[in-house]
Amino acid sequence: MPYFGFKGGIHPKYNKSATQSKTTVTLPVEIGEVVHIPLSQHIGAPAKVLVKKNQQVRVGEPIGEAAGFISTTIHSSVTGKVVAVGTVEHPVGGRVPGVSIQVEDATNDYIRLEKAGSFQKGVMAAGIAGMGGATFPSHVKLSPPKDIDALLINGAECEPYLTCDHRVMVERTEDIIKGSVIIKEKLDLEKLIICVEKNKPDAIEAFKKFESTYGFELVELEVKYPQGGEKQLIKAALDRVVPEGKLPMEVGVIVHNVGTAVAIYDSVEHGKPMYERIVTVTGAVKEPKNIMVRIGTPISKLIEYCGGFVGTPRKIVMGGPMMGLAVTSLDTPVMKGTSGILIYKEEDLPNLNQYKCMRCGRCVETCPMGLVPSAMDRFVVKELYEELADWHVMNCIECGCCSYTCPSRRTLAGGFKTSKRLVAGILRAREEKKNG
Ligand code: SF4
Ligand code: SF4
Repeated sequence: MPYFGFKGGIHPKYNKSATQSKTTVTLPVEIGEVVHIPLSQHIGAPAKVLVKKNQQVRVGEPIGEAAGFISTTIHSSVTGKVVAVGTVEHPVGGRVPGVSIQVEDATNDYIRLEKAGSFQKGVMAAGIAGMGGATFPSHVKLSPPKDIDALLINGAECEPYLTCDHRVMVERTEDIIKGSVIIKEKLDLEKLIICVEKNKPDAIEAFKKFESTYGFELVELEVKYPQGGEKQLIKAALDRVVPEGKLPMEVGVIVHNVGTAVAIYDSVEHGKPMYERIVTVTGAVKEPKNIMVRIGTPISKLIEYCGGFVGTPRKIVMGGPMMGLAVTSLDTPVMKGTSGILIYKEEDLPNLNQYKCMRCGRCVETCPMGLVPSAMDRFVVKELYEELADWHVMNCIECGCCSYTCPSRRTLAGGFKTSKRLVAGILRAREEKKNG
């Protein structure tokens, strides 16, 4: 299939060689250890807790039920006893409601999902949320109120350092395809397109072997960040442009990550709920790895499993370096959207001194959303949120290309991210005023 490309973007150092060829290993579960499972691991309402302190639970047993349509189920990732129903660490917002469970049986025998009334209800019961990091509940994406003709499977994994999607594509190629075909058939779609960046030739070759059997199309994407952004992927693979403020369904498309496709396959074919995922642990650790981890496992255990830190860690990021979140506690648990744990040493961190904008225009050239970050930055600094709204900050995908490319080291993307909540309030008020 042709590649149509997208405007802007950057070519950061990819730094994937430490883990891209390493087969996924499973982190052993030990009797006595405690997992801390947040009830809010997805976009939307946190799940409603279903268990009480001292209750026995098994792997795959629901411990939280979806609190509305934009929410999803949370399952126990271990077999053992609930030792606390309270709060647990979360990379956003300190502590959030969650359930702590002490392991009493280290096996991986999970409770099979019961038959649901529909495909979408089954995906909700399986607790599947987008595994690329956005964590949008998958059953919502699979219930589009508009006509859809194309399913894009996102195997770009354009974030530097991360290789968990790469390993899924090499190790579970046919299961990704089967999961994608299930979605295509359930939603009666015309096109199934699997998109992979060209820096993963082994994954591309693996998919090619199945192309004629399953009748999908393969797009080999240019290696460019943020190629995996939904809007950029849709433009690159289908030459369709999602209008400002709209979702992919507006142009007839649904996008799912490769890991999500596997989770859907596992739920439909094996009745498996989402209680574990692959995490890339890399950067300043002795042995970087791709690890299958039970949800709720503290990141300290993953770091220990990788031989511990190299040198003194200065920053730990959950996710990739461009869009990940810095964590402040090693007790922070792995969640459904945790694609990586990246450890920086002092010397890995850039000089953080900011200088005045020199109006070089690089941020404007690289913004994949066609925004003017330098102008928006002036409004952020002066707290002029009405103006920021008029300059379309809500269209910012927080990719960080502008900050990366800025010679004055302005923390542009961070400012836009924190301002968006205030701007959303302004836009809501404007809409209410317009509608009387
Ligand atoms: S973070 Fe926002 S403003 Fe900056 S390049 Fe990305 S989309 Fe553009
Ligand atoms: S890249 Fe930085 S210095 Fe250049 S115009 Fe943008 S904000 Fe200003």
